[in-house]
Amino acid sequence: MQVQQETYCIVGAGQGGCELALSLRQQGCTGAIVLFGDEGHPPYQRPPLSKAYLKGEVQETSLRLRQPAAYERASIELVLDTRVTHIDRQTKTIVLANGIERAYGKLGLATGGRPRRLATPDGERAERAGNFHYLRTIDDVRSIRTHFAPGRRLVIIGGGYVGLEVAAAALACNLSVTVLEALPRVLARVTAPEVSSFYERVHREAGVDLRTATEVRGFEFSPGDEAITAVCCSDGSSIATDLVIVGIGLVPNTELAQAAGLAVDNGIVVDEYARTSDPDIVAAGDCANYPDAISGRRVRLESVPNAIEQARSAAASLMGVQRPHAAVPWFWSDQYDLKLQIAGLSGGYDQVVLRGSTGGRSFAAFYLQEQRLIACDAVNRPQEFMMAKRLLPCRRRIDAALLADESVPLKSIESPAA
Ligand code: FAD
Repeated sequence: MQVQQETYCIVGAGQGGCELALSLRQQGCTGAIVLFGDEGHPPYQRPPLSKAYLKGEVQETSLRLRQPAAYERASIELVLDTRVTHIDRQTKTIVLANGIERAYGKLGLATGGRPRRLATPDGERAERAGNFHYLRTIDDVRSIRTHFAPGRRLVIIGGGYVGLEVAAAALACNLSVTVLEALPRVLARVTAPEVSSFYERVHREAGVDLRTATEVRGFEFSPGDEAITAVCCSDGSSIATDLVIVGIGLVPNTELAQAAGLAVDNGIVVDEYARTSDPDIVAAGDCANYPDAISGRRVRLESVPNAIEQARSAAASLMGVQRPHAAVPWFWSDQYDLKLQIAGLSGGYDQVVLRGSTGGRSFAAFYLQEQRLIACDAVNRPQEFMMAKRLLPCRRRIDAALLADESVPLKSIESPAA
């Protein structure tokens, strides 16, 4: 039997990097595994950052993906607070921010992404103010939480999932909340108008001042620019504030890969086995652009299940095994008492079928393309979500009338012959 003693270096100690390192060991890797992360924290989950952790309901240690002993047991060298600044594919070395070089036999890239920056003329000035925040890391939330006191005024810029989750968390902490969305509706890029309207209603009823089609033009500052005192909008209004949180999307961290000459196109380009254009380098998670087996399109997804599944395929590839990343994309979002579960990718739908009413707090929106199910948004409807997840890979035609009719059992829709 051939003994593998190569060094496996992984750049990025987040959800994908952690899974990649552990999967390598689980899949029988006997080489050295080194996981580099530029944050000071051991790998942690990000979803609670805009939910329970922001509300102060869970301790920071409970965010950890694994306890430190798990890395020791798996003989994974965890190198934190250390940025990888360069990849030399000829010599197969990576260079760290402190100038140290490390040789690799195989390399995994799980560099994630960073918040998209606000592009107002005074954006950089705003970023220097003490009460302006993006939300991506534990450290971001630590700073935000110092402003999270009852009665404080919060303006959230961006009506996407993160912005809306922050709104719900802030209301639970008794802040006064305004959400500004530049597009005519919230969640416009990811859901149907019916689902957007539902969330707009829910947030307004909860007490959020939600303003759509409202662009941010700039800010007013306190003397010395220490803090932002108001957010100025395209409609001429200015909203007095104590805290600003911006959630307007993510930019994938691809610079390292690009400088190394790897193919990059809205993410590091990989195949269904998470392999980059270099046979010794794989990539996974938010930073990777891959061919989705179900839609046939290239996509770059930002979700925990995607990072985990793709990392497992990446680990297999590094071990010389072909394990396609073909899982149904899915995602979730928690706001108030509402658990939204999303299966599939709705881009390109030509029909939306509702099962249940958006007037209540439980319904499913099915997205069809030429009568075939391509995605589902399920609000407090775990069974519809599970059915959609099972049906999506089949791409078979489904009768919209049956989907909409709550008296028709899901079972008979899923298995018409049964
Ligand atoms: P990350 O977890 O971002 O990890 C990448 C790591 O690599 C980071 O620590 C980064 O600092 C580090 N890094 C980058 N470059 C370098 C370098 N050169 N050297 C060293 N280290 C480097 N997903 C869901 O499915 N459901 C949710 O409800 C949900 N909620 C979310 C809420 C928030 C507030 C956020 C921010 C994300 C949420 N997500 C959610 C998305 C999910 O967290 C991400 O999809 C997932 O973390 C992606 O994992 P990753 O490993 O690709 O990237």
